Amino acid sequence: DDLQSQYDLERMKSFRNVEDWDKREFPWSKEISKILKETFKFEKFRSKQLAAINATLDKKDVLLLMPTGGGKSLVYQLPAVVNKGMTLVVSPLISLIEDQLLALKRFGIKSDSINSATTKERRKEIHNWMTSRQHGLKLLYVTPEWLGKSKQFMSYLQKCFSANNLDRIAIDEVHCCSTWGHDFRKEYQFLGLLKPMFPGIPFIGLTATATMSILIDTQKMLGMDDCTVITAPFNRPNLYYKVIQKPSASEQSLKILEKLLKNNYKNQSGIIYTTTIKETEELTKYLRDADLQVMNYHAQLEPDRKKKTHEKWLSNKYQAVIATIAFGMGIDKPDVRFVIHYSMPKSMEGFYQESGRAGRDGKKSDCILMFALTDYLRILGMASSKVEENNARAVLNYSLDNRQCRRSLIASHFEEVWDQSNCNKMCDFCRKNTSLVYYDITPACKTIHEIISAANQGECKLTLLKLVNSWFRLSCKEFSLPPFAKPDISRIDAEKIISYLLLLNFLKIDKGYNLYNIIFYLQKNQVPTGKIEICLPASVDLKGFSRRDINKVKDLEEEIEPPFKKSKIS
Ligand code: ADP
Ligand code: MG
Ligand code: ZN
Repeated sequence: DDLQSQYDLERMKSFRNVEDWDKREFPWSKEISKILKETFKFEKFRSKQLAAINATLDKKDVLLLMPTGGGKSLVYQLPAVVNKGMTLVVSPLISLIEDQLLALKRFGIKSDSINSATTKERRKEIHNWMTSRQHGLKLLYVTPEWLGKSKQFMSYLQKCFSANNLDRIAIDEVHCCSTWGHDFRKEYQFLGLLKPMFPGIPFIGLTATATMSILIDTQKMLGMDDCTVITAPFNRPNLYYKVIQKPSASEQSLKILEKLLKNNYKNQSGIIYTTTIKETEELTKYLRDADLQVMNYHAQLEPDRKKKTHEKWLSNKYQAVIATIAFGMGIDKPDVRFVIHYSMPKSMEGFYQESGRAGRDGKKSDCILMFALTDYLRILGMASSKVEENNARAVLNYSLDNRQCRRSLIASHFEEVWDQSNCNKMCDFCRKNTSLVYYDITPACKTIHEIISAANQGECKLTLLKLVNSWFRLSCKEFSLPPFAKPDISRIDAEKIISYLLLLNFLKIDKGYNLYNIIFYLQKNQVPTGKIEICLPASVDLKGFSRRDINKVKDLEEEIEPPFKKSKIS
Protein backbone atom coordinates (compact mmCIF):
# COMPACT_ATOMS: atom_id res chain seq x y z
CA ASP A 1 0.00 0.00 0.00
CA ASP A 2 2.89 2.29 0.89
CA LEU A 3 4.58 1.47 -2.39
CA GLN A 4 1.40 2.21 -4.24
CA SER A 5 1.05 5.67 -2.71
CA GLN A 6 4.75 6.37 -3.32
CA TYR A 7 4.16 5.43 -6.93
CA ASP A 8 1.09 7.64 -7.12
CA LEU A 9 3.04 10.54 -5.70
CA GLU A 10 5.77 10.20 -8.29
CA ARG A 11 3.17 10.00 -11.00
CA MET A 12 1.42 13.12 -9.76
CA LYS A 13 4.72 14.97 -9.81
CA SER A 14 5.39 14.02 -13.38
CA PHE A 15 2.13 15.70 -14.35
CA ARG A 16 3.46 18.94 -13.04
CA ASN A 17 5.15 19.84 -16.26
CA VAL A 18 2.92 22.79 -16.93
CA GLU A 19 5.41 25.05 -18.68
CA ASP A 20 4.23 23.59 -21.97
CA TRP A 21 0.71 24.72 -21.33
CA ASP A 22 1.89 28.18 -20.37
CA LYS A 23 4.01 28.75 -23.43
CA ARG A 24 2.92 26.89 -26.52
CA GLU A 25 1.01 28.57 -29.26
CA PHE A 26 -2.40 27.03 -29.78
CA PRO A 27 -4.93 27.48 -32.56
CA TRP A 28 -7.22 29.25 -30.09
CA SER A 29 -4.60 31.53 -28.53
CA LYS A 30 -5.66 34.72 -30.31
CA GLU A 31 -9.33 34.10 -29.70
CA ILE A 32 -9.01 33.55 -25.97
CA SER A 33 -7.05 36.79 -25.49
CA LYS A 34 -9.76 38.62 -27.30
CA ILE A 35 -12.55 37.04 -25.24
CA LEU A 36 -10.66 37.80 -22.03
CA LYS A 37 -10.61 41.51 -22.86
CA GLU A 38 -13.89 41.97 -24.68
CA THR A 39 -16.24 39.63 -22.84
CA PHE A 40 -14.73 39.42 -19.36
CA LYS A 41 -13.07 42.87 -19.44
CA PHE A 42 -9.87 41.62 -17.82
CA GLU A 43 -6.46 43.01 -18.82
CA LYS A 44 -4.45 39.82 -18.65
CA PHE A 45 -4.49 36.25 -17.40
CA ARG A 46 -3.44 35.64 -13.84
CA SER A 47 -0.81 33.12 -12.90
CA LYS A 48 -1.71 29.66 -14.28
CA GLN A 49 -5.12 30.63 -15.67
CA LEU A 50 -3.76 30.48 -19.20
CA ALA A 51 -2.06 27.12 -18.68
CA ALA A 52 -5.24 25.58 -17.31
CA ILE A 53 -7.39 27.02 -20.10
CA ASN A 54 -5.02 25.69 -22.76
CA ALA A 55 -4.96 22.24 -21.20
CA THR A 56 -8.73 21.96 -20.94
CA LEU A 57 -9.28 23.34 -24.45
CA ASP A 58 -6.84 20.66 -25.61
CA LYS A 59 -9.30 18.15 -24.07
CA LYS A 60 -7.00 17.09 -21.25
CA ASP A 61 -8.44 16.26 -17.85
CA VAL A 62 -7.23 18.96 -15.49
CA LEU A 63 -6.96 19.33 -11.75
CA LEU A 64 -6.45 23.00 -10.93
CA LEU A 65 -5.13 24.02 -7.52
CA MET A 66 -5.38 27.69 -6.96
CA PRO A 67 -5.80 29.66 -3.75
CA THR A 68 -9.13 31.24 -2.89
CA GLY A 69 -9.62 34.37 -4.97
CA GLY A 70 -7.07 33.24 -7.52
CA GLY A 71 -9.63 33.19 -10.32
CA LYS A 72 -10.63 29.58 -10.85
CA SER A 73 -14.06 30.30 -12.37
CA LEU A 74 -12.62 31.97 -15.45
CA VAL A 75 -10.77 28.76 -16.25
CA TYR A 76 -13.98 26.98 -17.21
CA GLN A 77 -16.12 30.02 -18.07
CA LEU A 78 -13.84 31.27 -20.82
CA PRO A 79 -13.47 27.90 -22.60
CA ALA A 80 -17.26 27.62 -22.46
CA VAL A 81 -17.45 30.76 -24.58
CA VAL A 82 -14.83 29.43 -27.02
CA ASN A 83 -16.49 26.04 -27.51
CA LYS A 84 -19.69 25.58 -29.45
CA GLY A 85 -21.72 23.48 -27.02
CA MET A 86 -22.30 23.72 -23.29
CA THR A 87 -20.30 23.16 -20.13
CA LEU A 88 -21.79 21.38 -17.13
CA VAL A 89 -20.62 22.94 -13.87
CA VAL A 90 -21.00 21.08 -10.59
CA SER A 91 -20.90 23.48 -7.67
CA PRO A 92 -21.70 22.72 -4.03
CA LEU A 93 -23.95 25.62 -3.03
CA ILE A 94 -26.96 27.25 -4.64
CA SER A 95 -25.89 30.66 -3.29
CA LEU A 96 -22.51 30.25 -4.99
CA ILE A 97 -24.24 29.31 -8.21
CA GLU A 98 -26.47 32.37 -8.02
CA ASP A 99 -23.47 34.68 -7.57
CA GLN A 100 -21.85 33.15 -10.62
CA LEU A 101 -24.98 33.41 -12.73
CA LEU A 102 -25.26 37.08 -11.85
CA ALA A 103 -21.68 37.73 -12.92
CA LEU A 104 -22.17 35.76 -16.15
CA LYS A 105 -25.27 37.76 -16.94
CA ARG A 106 -23.21 40.94 -16.69
CA PHE A 107 -20.72 39.45 -19.14
CA GLY A 108 -23.60 38.59 -21.46
CA ILE A 109 -23.01 34.84 -21.36
CA LYS A 110 -26.10 32.63 -21.55
CA SER A 111 -26.05 30.40 -18.50
CA ASP A 112 -28.52 28.81 -16.12
CA SER A 113 -29.00 26.39 -13.29
CA ILE A 114 -31.24 23.47 -12.47
CA ASN A 115 -31.82 22.55 -8.86
CA SER A 116 -34.59 21.50 -6.51
CA ALA A 117 -35.93 25.07 -6.47
CA THR A 118 -36.38 25.25 -10.25
CA THR A 119 -40.00 25.13 -11.41
CA LYS A 120 -41.20 22.32 -13.65
CA GLU A 121 -41.69 24.65 -16.64
CA ARG A 122 -38.21 26.14 -16.34
CA ARG A 123 -36.78 22.67 -16.02
CA LYS A 124 -38.51 21.60 -19.19
CA GLU A 125 -37.18 24.60 -21.04
CA ILE A 126 -33.61 24.01 -19.90
CA HIS A 127 -33.83 20.28 -20.69
CA ASN A 128 -34.79 21.34 -24.18
CA TRP A 129 -31.83 23.74 -24.40
CA MET A 130 -29.49 20.93 -23.40
CA THR A 131 -30.34 18.79 -26.39
CA SER A 132 -29.27 21.19 -29.10
CA ARG A 133 -26.54 23.74 -29.72
CA GLN A 134 -28.94 26.09 -31.41
CA HIS A 135 -30.16 27.44 -28.09
CA GLY A 136 -26.71 28.81 -27.29
CA LEU A 137 -26.65 27.75 -23.62
CA LYS A 138 -23.01 28.04 -22.56
CA LEU A 139 -22.92 27.05 -18.90
CA LEU A 140 -25.32 24.91 -16.88
CA TYR A 141 -24.83 24.79 -13.11
CA VAL A 142 -26.03 21.95 -10.90
CA THR A 143 -25.38 20.85 -7.35
CA PRO A 144 -23.97 17.36 -6.78
CA GLU A 145 -27.17 16.51 -4.85
CA TRP A 146 -29.22 17.23 -7.94
CA LEU A 147 -27.03 15.13 -10.19
CA GLY A 148 -27.18 12.25 -7.74
CA LYS A 149 -30.92 12.25 -7.28
CA SER A 150 -32.49 13.35 -10.57
CA LYS A 151 -32.63 10.45 -13.01
CA GLN A 152 -34.51 12.64 -15.43
CA PHE A 153 -31.68 15.16 -15.49
CA MET A 154 -29.12 12.42 -16.06
CA SER A 155 -31.05 11.15 -19.05
CA TYR A 156 -31.08 14.67 -20.55
CA LEU A 157 -27.37 14.91 -19.91
CA GLN A 158 -26.97 11.69 -21.89
CA LYS A 159 -28.99 13.26 -24.71
CA CYS A 160 -26.85 16.38 -24.51
CA PHE A 161 -23.78 14.18 -24.90
CA SER A 162 -25.22 12.16 -27.78
CA ALA A 163 -26.18 15.38 -29.57
CA ASN A 164 -22.52 16.42 -29.37
CA ASN A 165 -23.52 19.32 -27.20
CA LEU A 166 -21.51 18.51 -24.07
CA ASP A 167 -18.10 20.18 -24.24
CA ARG A 168 -16.79 19.80 -20.75
CA ILE A 169 -17.62 18.95 -17.13
CA ALA A 170 -16.24 21.31 -14.47
CA ILE A 171 -16.33 20.32 -10.81
CA ASP A 172 -15.83 23.17 -8.37
CA GLU A 173 -14.52 22.58 -4.83
CA VAL A 174 -13.50 19.17 -6.07
CA HIS A 175 -11.71 18.26 -2.82
CA CYS A 176 -15.17 17.56 -1.35
CA CYS A 177 -14.81 14.16 -3.08
CA SER A 178 -12.10 13.05 -0.72
CA THR A 179 -12.89 11.48 2.60
CA TRP A 180 -9.43 12.67 3.69
CA GLY A 181 -10.49 16.26 3.35
CA HIS A 182 -11.84 18.63 5.94
CA ASP A 183 -15.07 19.07 4.05
CA PHE A 184 -15.93 15.75 2.54
CA ARG A 185 -19.48 15.58 1.18
CA LYS A 186 -21.06 12.29 0.44
CA GLU A 187 -23.02 13.70 -2.53
CA TYR A 188 -19.70 14.20 -4.32
CA GLN A 189 -19.15 10.45 -4.40
CA PHE A 190 -21.72 10.09 -7.14
CA LEU A 191 -19.40 12.10 -9.41
CA GLY A 192 -17.14 9.05 -9.61
CA LEU A 193 -19.69 7.53 -12.00
CA LEU A 194 -19.53 10.36 -14.55
CA LYS A 195 -16.19 9.71 -16.21
CA PRO A 196 -17.10 6.39 -17.86
CA MET A 197 -20.52 7.75 -18.86
CA PHE A 198 -19.03 10.49 -21.00
CA PRO A 199 -15.99 9.13 -22.82
CA GLY A 200 -13.81 11.77 -24.44
CA ILE A 201 -15.34 14.67 -22.53
CA PRO A 202 -12.68 16.67 -20.69
CA PHE A 203 -13.15 17.06 -16.94
CA ILE A 204 -11.74 19.92 -14.94
CA GLY A 205 -11.66 19.83 -11.13
CA LEU A 206 -10.99 23.02 -9.19
CA THR A 207 -9.94 23.47 -5.60
CA ALA A 208 -8.06 25.68 -3.19
CA THR A 209 -7.02 22.63 -1.19
CA ALA A 210 -3.53 21.50 -1.82
CA THR A 211 -2.78 18.52 0.35
CA MET A 212 -1.22 15.75 -1.66
CA SER A 213 -3.13 12.92 0.00
CA ILE A 214 -6.44 14.68 -0.68
CA LEU A 215 -5.51 15.29 -4.30
CA ILE A 216 -4.52 11.72 -4.99
CA ASP A 217 -7.70 10.52 -3.35
CA THR A 218 -9.82 12.97 -5.35
CA GLN A 219 -8.18 11.96 -8.59
CA LYS A 220 -8.89 8.31 -7.88
CA MET A 221 -12.46 9.00 -6.89
CA LEU A 222 -13.18 10.76 -10.16
CA GLY A 223 -11.27 8.30 -12.28
CA MET A 224 -9.08 11.06 -13.71
CA ASP A 225 -6.07 8.80 -14.09
CA ASP A 226 -4.08 10.81 -16.57
CA CYS A 227 -4.99 14.28 -15.51
CA THR A 228 -2.77 17.32 -15.74
CA VAL A 229 -2.25 18.90 -12.35
CA ILE A 230 -1.81 22.65 -12.51
CA THR A 231 -0.86 24.55 -9.40
CA ALA A 232 -0.85 28.29 -8.88
CA PRO A 233 1.40 29.71 -6.15
CA PHE A 234 -0.26 29.41 -2.76
CA ASN A 235 1.90 31.84 -0.86
CA ARG A 236 0.17 35.21 -0.51
CA PRO A 237 3.01 37.68 0.08
CA ASN A 238 0.76 40.56 1.18
CA LEU A 239 -0.79 38.68 4.10
CA TYR A 240 0.72 39.28 7.54
CA TYR A 241 0.34 36.25 9.83
CA LYS A 242 0.19 36.61 13.57
CA VAL A 243 -0.88 34.58 16.61
CA ILE A 244 -2.20 36.22 19.76
CA GLN A 245 -2.57 34.37 23.04
CA LYS A 246 -6.20 34.70 24.06
CA PRO A 247 -6.68 35.50 27.75
CA SER A 248 -8.76 32.95 29.64
CA ALA A 249 -11.23 35.57 30.90
CA SER A 250 -13.63 36.36 28.11
CA GLU A 251 -13.97 40.07 29.04
CA GLN A 252 -10.27 40.44 28.43
CA SER A 253 -10.31 38.76 25.06
CA LEU A 254 -13.34 40.79 24.01
CA LYS A 255 -11.46 43.92 25.04
CA ILE A 256 -8.58 42.92 22.76
CA LEU A 257 -11.01 42.58 19.89
CA GLU A 258 -12.59 45.95 20.63
CA LYS A 259 -9.17 47.63 20.71
CA LEU A 260 -8.14 46.02 17.44
CA LEU A 261 -11.26 47.31 15.71
CA LYS A 262 -11.04 50.78 17.25
CA ASN A 263 -7.31 51.38 16.96
CA ASN A 264 -5.53 49.09 14.54
CA TYR A 265 -8.35 48.68 12.02
CA LYS A 266 -10.23 51.93 12.36
CA ASN A 267 -12.20 52.59 9.14
CA GLN A 268 -11.02 49.30 7.70
CA SER A 269 -12.98 46.28 6.64
CA GLY A 270 -12.69 42.76 8.01
CA ILE A 271 -14.11 39.41 9.11
CA ILE A 272 -14.05 37.88 12.57
CA TYR A 273 -14.49 34.11 12.60
CA THR A 274 -15.70 32.20 15.58
CA THR A 275 -17.00 28.69 16.12
CA THR A 276 -20.61 28.74 17.24
CA ILE A 277 -23.74 30.69 16.37
CA LYS A 278 -24.10 31.70 20.01
CA GLU A 279 -20.62 33.16 19.98
CA THR A 280 -21.35 35.25 16.90
CA GLU A 281 -24.30 36.68 18.83
CA GLU A 282 -22.34 37.36 22.00
CA LEU A 283 -19.44 39.00 20.19
CA THR A 284 -21.75 41.13 18.11
CA LYS A 285 -23.64 42.32 21.16
CA TYR A 286 -20.46 43.23 23.00
CA LEU A 287 -18.94 45.09 20.06
CA ARG A 288 -22.16 46.91 19.18
CA ASP A 289 -22.50 48.01 22.81
CA ALA A 290 -19.01 49.42 22.37
CA ASP A 291 -20.29 51.53 19.45
CA LEU A 292 -18.78 49.45 16.71
CA GLN A 293 -20.60 48.82 13.44
CA VAL A 294 -20.62 45.06 13.17
CA MET A 295 -23.14 42.31 12.44
CA ASN A 296 -23.23 38.57 12.85
CA TYR A 297 -23.68 35.93 10.15
CA HIS A 298 -24.31 32.21 10.31
CA ALA A 299 -26.04 29.46 8.38
CA GLN A 300 -29.32 29.61 10.27
CA LEU A 301 -30.22 33.22 9.50
CA GLU A 302 -32.98 34.07 7.04
CA PRO A 303 -31.67 34.48 3.48
CA ASP A 304 -32.86 38.08 3.52
CA ARG A 305 -30.97 38.97 6.63
CA LYS A 306 -27.84 37.27 5.25
CA LYS A 307 -28.08 39.23 2.06
CA LYS A 308 -28.55 42.53 3.88
CA THR A 309 -25.60 41.92 6.16
CA HIS A 310 -23.42 40.96 3.25
CA GLU A 311 -24.43 44.09 1.32
CA LYS A 312 -23.91 46.46 4.23
CA TRP A 313 -20.49 44.97 4.77
CA LEU A 314 -19.66 45.29 1.07
CA SER A 315 -20.58 48.97 1.16
CA ASN A 316 -18.56 49.48 4.39
CA LYS A 317 -21.59 50.30 6.53
CA TYR A 318 -20.43 47.45 8.71
CA GLN A 319 -16.78 47.44 9.66
CA ALA A 320 -16.76 43.70 10.27
CA VAL A 321 -18.91 40.61 10.02
CA ILE A 322 -18.77 38.28 13.02
CA ALA A 323 -19.29 34.93 11.43
CA THR A 324 -19.14 31.20 11.54
CA ILE A 325 -17.48 29.53 8.56
CA ALA A 326 -20.85 29.78 6.81
CA PHE A 327 -19.60 33.20 5.72
CA GLY A 328 -17.15 32.05 3.15
CA MET A 329 -17.55 30.61 -0.28
CA GLY A 330 -18.40 33.31 -2.74
CA ILE A 331 -17.23 36.18 -0.54
CA ASP A 332 -15.29 38.44 -2.83
CA LYS A 333 -14.50 41.84 -1.30
CA PRO A 334 -11.16 43.15 -2.50
CA ASP A 335 -10.23 45.41 0.44
CA VAL A 336 -10.63 43.09 3.42
CA ARG A 337 -7.81 44.36 5.65
CA PHE A 338 -8.11 41.87 8.50
CA VAL A 339 -9.37 38.38 9.18
CA ILE A 340 -9.36 37.46 12.84
CA HIS A 341 -9.93 33.93 14.06
CA TYR A 342 -11.36 34.66 17.47
CA SER A 343 -11.44 30.94 18.08
CA MET A 344 -9.31 28.31 16.52
CA PRO A 345 -10.13 27.00 13.04
CA LYS A 346 -10.62 23.25 12.59
CA SER A 347 -7.77 22.69 10.17
CA MET A 348 -4.88 24.45 8.46
CA GLU A 349 -6.80 24.22 5.18
CA GLY A 350 -9.69 26.02 6.81
CA PHE A 351 -7.36 28.60 8.32
CA TYR A 352 -5.65 29.20 5.01
CA GLN A 353 -8.92 29.57 3.12
CA GLU A 354 -10.66 31.77 5.66
CA SER A 355 -7.69 34.05 6.26
CA GLY A 356 -7.14 34.07 2.49
CA ARG A 357 -10.23 36.25 2.12
CA ALA A 358 -8.05 39.14 3.28
CA GLY A 359 -6.10 41.28 0.86
CA ARG A 360 -7.44 40.20 -2.50
CA ASP A 361 -6.45 43.62 -3.82
CA GLY A 362 -2.82 42.78 -3.09
CA LYS A 363 -2.40 45.32 -0.29
CA LYS A 364 -1.03 44.43 3.12
CA SER A 365 -3.65 42.73 5.29
CA ASP A 366 -3.55 40.94 8.63
CA CYS A 367 -4.47 37.35 9.47
CA ILE A 368 -4.69 36.97 13.21
CA LEU A 369 -5.29 33.77 15.07
CA MET A 370 -6.29 34.09 18.72
CA PHE A 371 -5.25 30.97 20.53
CA ALA A 372 -6.68 29.45 23.69
CA LEU A 373 -6.28 25.87 24.83
CA THR A 374 -9.97 25.59 25.70
CA ASP A 375 -10.84 26.31 22.07
CA TYR A 376 -8.56 23.51 20.98
CA LEU A 377 -10.27 21.12 23.37
CA ARG A 378 -13.62 22.12 21.97
CA ILE A 379 -12.49 21.51 18.38
CA LEU A 380 -11.19 18.10 19.40
CA GLY A 381 -14.56 17.40 20.97
CA MET A 382 -16.30 18.05 17.68
CA ALA A 383 -13.84 15.93 15.74
CA SER A 384 -15.36 12.65 14.66
CA SER A 385 -12.37 10.91 13.12
CA LYS A 386 -8.62 10.54 13.37
CA VAL A 387 -8.29 12.77 10.31
CA GLU A 388 -10.17 15.58 12.03
CA GLU A 389 -8.15 15.17 15.20
CA ASN A 390 -4.94 15.45 13.22
CA ASN A 391 -6.29 18.51 11.42
CA ALA A 392 -6.89 20.19 14.78
CA ARG A 393 -3.44 19.19 16.03
CA ALA A 394 -1.84 20.85 13.05
CA VAL A 395 -3.50 24.12 14.04
CA LEU A 396 -2.33 23.63 17.62
CA ASN A 397 1.17 23.18 16.29
CA TYR A 398 0.89 26.37 14.23
CA SER A 399 -0.38 28.26 17.28
CA LEU A 400 2.31 27.09 19.66
CA ASP A 401 5.44 27.03 17.54
CA ASN A 402 7.61 30.02 18.41
CA ARG A 403 10.68 28.87 16.59
CA GLN A 404 10.02 29.59 12.98
CA CYS A 405 8.37 31.82 10.42
CA ARG A 406 4.59 31.36 10.23
CA ARG A 407 4.93 31.05 6.46
CA SER A 408 7.24 28.08 6.76
CA LEU A 409 4.79 26.51 9.20
CA ILE A 410 1.98 26.90 6.67
CA ALA A 411 4.27 25.76 3.89
CA SER A 412 5.22 22.56 5.68
CA HIS A 413 1.53 21.85 5.92
CA PHE A 414 0.83 22.35 2.26
CA GLU A 415 3.84 20.28 1.28
CA GLU A 416 5.13 20.89 -2.20
CA VAL A 417 2.60 23.27 -3.65
CA TRP A 418 3.63 26.17 -1.45
CA ASP A 419 6.10 28.39 -3.18
CA GLN A 420 8.72 29.00 -0.48
CA SER A 421 9.56 32.58 -1.22
CA ASN A 422 10.75 35.03 1.37
CA CYS A 423 8.44 36.12 4.13
CA ASN A 424 9.79 39.68 4.00
CA LYS A 425 8.99 40.23 7.66
CA MET A 426 5.34 39.57 6.95
CA CYS A 427 4.74 37.45 10.07
CA ASP A 428 5.11 38.01 13.79
CA PHE A 429 8.13 35.73 14.04
CA CYS A 430 10.14 37.34 11.25
CA ARG A 431 9.20 40.86 12.24
CA LYS A 432 9.89 40.76 15.93
CA ASN A 433 13.05 38.73 15.88
CA THR A 434 12.25 37.93 19.51
CA SER A 435 14.94 36.30 21.54
CA LEU A 436 13.94 32.85 22.66
CA VAL A 437 14.72 30.59 25.57
CA TYR A 438 14.26 26.94 26.33
CA TYR A 439 12.44 25.87 29.46
CA ASP A 440 12.70 22.42 30.94
CA ILE A 441 9.14 21.35 31.74
CA THR A 442 9.94 17.73 32.69
CA PRO A 443 9.21 18.33 36.40
CA ALA A 444 5.85 19.89 35.52
CA CYS A 445 4.98 16.86 33.42
CA LYS A 446 5.87 14.59 36.32
CA THR A 447 3.74 16.59 38.78
CA ILE A 448 0.79 16.69 36.40
CA HIS A 449 0.99 12.94 35.82
CA GLU A 450 1.02 12.42 39.61
CA ILE A 451 -2.01 14.65 40.06
CA ILE A 452 -3.93 12.75 37.39
CA SER A 453 -2.98 9.38 38.91
CA ALA A 454 -4.16 10.54 42.33
CA ALA A 455 -7.42 11.79 40.83
CA ASN A 456 -8.00 8.55 38.96
CA GLN A 457 -7.36 6.55 42.13
CA GLY A 458 -10.03 8.65 43.80
CA GLU A 459 -12.27 7.76 40.83
CA CYS A 460 -12.18 11.30 39.61
CA LYS A 461 -11.38 12.72 36.18
CA LEU A 462 -9.89 16.15 35.64
CA THR A 463 -11.06 18.86 33.28
CA LEU A 464 -8.57 21.53 32.28
CA LEU A 465 -9.97 23.84 34.95
CA LYS A 466 -9.76 21.21 37.67
CA LEU A 467 -6.29 20.16 36.62
CA VAL A 468 -4.96 23.72 36.79
CA ASN A 469 -6.73 24.27 40.14
CA SER A 470 -5.20 21.10 41.53
CA TRP A 471 -1.78 22.06 40.24
CA PHE A 472 -2.16 25.39 42.00
CA ARG A 473 -3.28 23.49 45.11
CA LEU A 474 -6.61 25.27 45.25
CA SER A 475 -9.37 23.54 47.20
CA CYS A 476 -9.74 19.97 46.06
CA LYS A 477 -12.35 17.86 47.80
CA GLU A 478 -12.77 14.84 45.55
CA PHE A 479 -9.34 13.31 46.03
CA SER A 480 -6.18 13.88 48.08
CA LEU A 481 -3.42 15.77 46.33
CA PRO A 482 0.02 14.20 46.27
CA PRO A 483 2.85 16.29 47.76
CA PHE A 484 4.41 18.88 45.40
CA ALA A 485 5.17 22.59 45.48
CA LYS A 486 2.60 24.98 44.04
CA PRO A 487 4.09 26.53 40.86
CA ASP A 488 4.93 30.24 40.87
CA ILE A 489 3.54 30.98 37.40
CA SER A 490 0.39 32.53 35.96
CA ARG A 491 -2.65 30.48 34.97
CA ILE A 492 -2.08 31.32 31.35
CA ASP A 493 1.49 29.99 31.50
CA ALA A 494 0.22 26.89 33.26
CA GLU A 495 -2.23 26.34 30.40
CA LYS A 496 0.57 26.91 27.93
CA ILE A 497 2.65 24.16 29.52
CA ILE A 498 -0.35 21.84 29.39
CA SER A 499 -0.84 22.73 25.70
CA TYR A 500 2.70 21.65 24.95
CA LEU A 501 2.27 18.43 26.90
CA LEU A 502 -0.77 17.70 24.74
CA LEU A 503 1.01 18.59 21.53
CA LEU A 504 3.98 16.43 22.45
CA ASN A 505 1.76 13.49 23.44
CA PHE A 506 2.55 13.45 27.15
CA LEU A 507 -1.10 14.15 27.79
CA LYS A 508 -4.19 13.09 25.93
CA ILE A 509 -7.87 13.93 25.90
CA ASP A 510 -10.58 11.71 27.19
CA LYS A 511 -14.12 12.59 26.16
CA GLY A 512 -17.07 12.28 28.51
CA TYR A 513 -20.70 13.31 28.29
CA ASN A 514 -23.23 14.80 30.61
CA LEU A 515 -26.83 15.57 29.79
CA TYR A 516 -26.06 18.57 27.62
CA ASN A 517 -22.38 18.73 26.79
CA ILE A 518 -19.26 16.91 25.88
CA ILE A 519 -16.72 17.22 28.64
CA PHE A 520 -12.98 16.89 28.11
CA TYR A 521 -10.76 15.24 30.63
CA LEU A 522 -7.00 15.29 30.58
CA GLN A 523 -5.30 11.95 30.91
CA LYS A 524 -1.73 10.74 31.08
CA ASN A 525 -0.23 9.56 27.84
CA GLN A 526 3.45 8.83 27.19
CA VAL A 527 5.88 8.89 30.09
CA PRO A 528 8.86 11.15 29.31
CA THR A 529 12.11 9.30 28.83
CA GLY A 530 14.31 12.38 28.48
CA LYS A 531 14.14 16.08 29.07
CA ILE A 532 11.11 17.93 27.71
CA GLU A 533 12.20 21.36 26.58
CA ILE A 534 9.91 23.94 25.09
CA CYS A 535 10.88 27.10 23.30
CA LEU A 536 9.28 30.35 24.45
CA PRO A 537 9.92 34.05 23.94
CA ALA A 538 12.50 35.28 26.47
CA SER A 539 9.91 37.66 27.89
CA VAL A 540 7.95 34.71 29.32
CA ASP A 541 9.16 34.15 32.86
CA LEU A 542 8.43 30.71 34.23
CA LYS A 543 9.67 31.09 37.81
CA GLY A 544 11.13 27.94 39.28
CA PHE A 545 11.73 26.28 35.90
CA SER A 546 15.24 25.80 34.60
CA ARG A 547 15.92 28.04 31.67
CA ARG A 548 18.50 27.81 28.95
CA ASP A 549 19.24 30.80 26.75
CA ILE A 550 19.78 30.04 23.13
CA ASN A 551 21.49 31.67 20.25
CA LYS A 552 18.44 31.97 18.07
CA VAL A 553 19.98 31.66 14.69
CA LYS A 554 22.44 28.95 15.52
CA ASP A 555 20.24 26.72 17.65
CA LEU A 556 17.31 26.96 15.34
CA GLU A 557 19.44 25.86 12.45
CA GLU A 558 20.54 22.86 14.42
CA GLU A 559 17.03 21.98 15.33
CA ILE A 560 16.15 18.69 13.72
CA GLU A 561 12.64 17.58 14.46
CA PRO A 562 9.65 19.89 14.71
CA PRO A 563 7.49 18.94 17.69
CA PHE A 564 4.74 17.73 15.45
CA LYS A 565 4.64 16.74 11.85
CA LYS A 566 1.43 16.23 10.02
CA SER A 567 0.90 12.54 9.56
CA LYS A 568 1.02 11.34 6.00
CA ILE A 569 -1.33 8.74 4.64
CA SER A 570 -0.11 5.22 5.01
P1 ADP B 1 -11.72 31.47 -6.90
O1 ADP B 1 -12.88 30.62 -7.37
O2 ADP B 1 -10.40 30.93 -7.31
O3 ADP B 1 -11.78 31.75 -5.42
P2 ADP B 1 -12.95 33.50 -8.52
O4 ADP B 1 -13.08 32.75 -9.78
O5 ADP B 1 -14.18 33.68 -7.71
O6 ADP B 1 -11.82 32.89 -7.61
O7 ADP B 1 -12.30 34.91 -8.86
C1 ADP B 1 -11.95 35.81 -7.86
C2 ADP B 1 -11.98 37.23 -8.38
O8 ADP B 1 -10.93 37.46 -9.31
C3 ADP B 1 -13.26 37.56 -9.12
O9 ADP B 1 -13.69 38.83 -8.71
C4 ADP B 1 -12.86 37.58 -10.58
O10 ADP B 1 -13.67 38.43 -11.32
C5 ADP B 1 -11.42 38.07 -10.49
N1 ADP B 1 -10.60 37.65 -11.64
C6 ADP B 1 -10.49 36.40 -12.14
N2 ADP B 1 -9.60 36.37 -13.15
C7 ADP B 1 -9.14 37.61 -13.31
C8 ADP B 1 -8.19 38.24 -14.20
N3 ADP B 1 -7.53 37.53 -15.12
N4 ADP B 1 -7.95 39.56 -14.06
C9 ADP B 1 -8.61 40.26 -13.10
N5 ADP B 1 -9.51 39.76 -12.25
C10 ADP B 1 -9.77 38.45 -12.33
MG1 MG C 1 -14.46 29.57 -6.65
ZN1 ZN D 1 7.87 34.99 8.51
